[in-house]
Amino acid sequence: MNPRLRLQPEAIGVGMTSQRVRDRLIERLRDNGIRDERVLNAIRTVPRHLFVDEALATRAYEDTALPIGHGQTISQPWVVARMTEALFEDGHAPQKVLEVGTGSGYQATVLAALGLEVHTVERIGDLLRVARKRFRSLGLNVRSKHDDGRVGWPENGPYDGILVTAGAPALVDALTEQLAPGGILVAPVGAANAQQLLMLRREADGSIARRDLGPVVFVPLLSGTIG
Ligand code: SAH
Repeated sequence: MNPRLRLQPEAIGVGMTSQRVRDRLIERLRDNGIRDERVLNAIRTVPRHLFVDEALATRAYEDTALPIGHGQTISQPWVVARMTEALFEDGHAPQKVLEVGTGSGYQATVLAALGLEVHTVERIGDLLRVARKRFRSLGLNVRSKHDDGRVGWPENGPYDGILVTAGAPALVDALTEQLAPGGILVAPVGAANAQQLLMLRREADGSIARRDLGPVVFVPLLSGTIG
């Protein structure tokens, strides 16, 4: 159980969404290099089957991205774990984080389950409305905004962590600028179907250190808002 989540009976799950099935996903993440027990625990306690259509619920604990409508996807659990883990690397203790690309709300919920203050921005109104319902029913106070997240959310910044969950050809300067000293940004950067997951840290002297966490595939970061 996670004291930060209010779990109704349907969140506990049965059969293909049971705790045993979820534990198997955690073992798989561990086998694939995820080490941070706090992150593994958050993923264990967040009911991913509530973030996809009922018809896909039986696949929710596979380590795979799944469609959420509007041509978008809920990220693969390993990618969610890796991005989240990066925020805590080298003893970094983030408090306030920004996510660009709310989608299903799953990544934001994993961050909230870790006790972080979460701000998230989504450009597709329909997706954001459904995600907000999920935050409410889980009792989470996630701050969200319908906007083009490429401008970030400067009014609430700076952030200790920024996760960009859609791929772009280049890093977005407006987002890097919203990093607090010591803050970490993780973003997929590259061509449409093959990005590198980049991790940037704003050092105390203001310089930016950069690491490549490996290849990933994300849906594209697009401009403007819809519905
Ligand atoms: N983090 C999500 C995965 C989302 S997929 C989850 O956990 O489910 C990427 C999301 O980014 C899509 O919902 C897409 O609409 C959104 N997106 C793409 N470009 C965006 C932009 N400029 N601003 C905000 N959201 C954007």
